[in-house]
Amino acid sequence: MKTKVHLAHLPTPVEALPQLSAYLGEPEVLVKRDDLTGLAFGGNKTRKLEYLVARARESGAQTLITTGAVQSNHCRQTAAAAARCGFQCILVLNGSPPGEKSGNLLLDHLLGAEIVWTNQKDRDSVLQDVYEEAQGAGKNPFLIPYGGSSPAGAIAYAYALQELLNQDIHPGWILFASSSGGTQAGLLVGARLFGYTGRILGISVDQPASVLRGRVRELAQQTAAYLGEKMTFTDEEILVNDQFLGEGYGVMGDTELEAIQLFARLEGLLLDPVYTGRAAGGLISLARSGFFKPGQKVLFWHTGGTPALFADPYRGKLAVV
Ligand SMILES: *Cc1c(COP(=O)(O)O)cnc(C)c1O
Repeated sequence: MKTKVHLAHLPTPVEALPQLSAYLGEPEVLVKRDDLTGLAFGGNKTRKLEYLVARARESGAQTLITTGAVQSNHCRQTAAAAARCGFQCILVLNGSPPGEKSGNLLLDHLLGAEIVWTNQKDRDSVLQDVYEEAQGAGKNPFLIPYGGSSPAGAIAYAYALQELLNQDIHPGWILFASSSGGTQAGLLVGARLFGYTGRILGISVDQPASVLRGRVRELAQQTAAYLGEKMTFTDEEILVNDQFLGEGYGVMGDTELEAIQLFARLEGLLLDPVYTGRAAGGLISLARSGFFKPGQKVLFWHTGGTPALFADPYRGKLAVV
């Protein structure tokens, strides 16, 4: 097993959602609370960062650099991990600074991260420049990949699946929001390693299914290799649903709004507007269409993201429904 730093409160709880399950009729829905990983409002990136920060430490780095959207949960958790473990942090965020710092961006600021905006420029070239500049300034930078989704980060979700099985939870389906693919790739590798035979369904939040599936396949194979295992995955095993992309990444539509309200009002459980709201909207829609077989259990893996509830433009939209 690769070494890790301790950042997350593990194991995260698994809870029943009886009111939501009764409302839907079928299936029975459970939730795995990775929104409670505990690092500065938590989320799925905390698990990956336990391994990635350990690699940074081994390399003698002093500065963590990563990149993402304005409301990136990954960037916020990286900033928190850097603070906790004594690194400096530089975040390369897409676009230009908004008028007000809200949600995750406010937290990035509080956590002491230096923020570099890409403005009109290509993100990868800005990232490269920032990295070289930090190197030149003697800051010993370490690049944390986009979404924490390299093999070194994705192994966290192989072990997360083992954690679930150790909680004696064996759902027919595991459903979650999938984007940079690390969560899904890790879960797939974990299923092989630890003998989970149910289905693993990623609800895409930004990519067409064919693109995300290819990314997950490649990353899963690399992740297995990183653990010294040879694995190949077929299209039939990599389940991706892209029916819920709506108006695109980060655009909260009626599907997300309804899911956020239902989970909040039936269960007192908060979802986020970008990822878990979309994935839960997918779950609700699939349940209504009879996609799940009677008696099947579906585990909704809550991946976090709730600070975005308080971010513009989401908070304004949420306040009027
Ligand atoms: C990053 C993120 C995801 C997607 O996870 P990937 O490993 O990038 O596919 C899902 N939900 C939330 C809240 C996230 O921040």
